[in-house]
Amino acid sequence: MLNDEIQGTPPLLLDAMLGRLARWLRLMGYDAAYIPDTDDREVVRQARAESRVILTRDRGLVRRRGITALLIDSQRLDDQIKEVQANIGPPPKPVTARCGVCNTPLKTLPRNSAQSRVPPYIWRTKDAFTECPGCRRVYWNGTHWSAIQGRLNGDE
Ligand SMILES: [Zn+2]
Repeated sequence: MLNDEIQGTPPLLLDAMLGRLARWLRLMGYDAAYIPDTDDREVVRQARAESRVILTRDRGLVRRRGITALLIDSQRLDDQIKEVQANIGPPPKPVTARCGVCNTPLKTLPRNSAQSRVPPYIWRTKDAFTECPGCRRVYWNGTHWSAIQGRLNGDE
């Protein structure tokens, strides 16, 4: 359960044990910062500075004053995503996928521009590409994308 009331869908901050969840939430469109280091003070400092809700598996951290935090109980990714959707709400609208690596909102990449940047097989078989303006990673509608849509729709 969330330890405080929230309005709308806030930006999130995930701590060390939730890196995989952070990547999925970004691709789903959540603003999900991630701190791979376990120093609680740094997590709390960044959450306060950027008004982020902390997602953590650390019960002690959830009890800290002056922060809003959600304790993630499950070990399974699918269940963790459901916990986020149930307690935080859907991704902010309009839903814009974010880079799984650096959390930057993705931008459409014209198909012609993608040709030199993805494997030939991918370019021949996919028609929609997006690019991360932050780290220049190119994404395309692939199996991982279907999996994300399935998770969003509650399919298994
Ligand atoms: Zn990126």
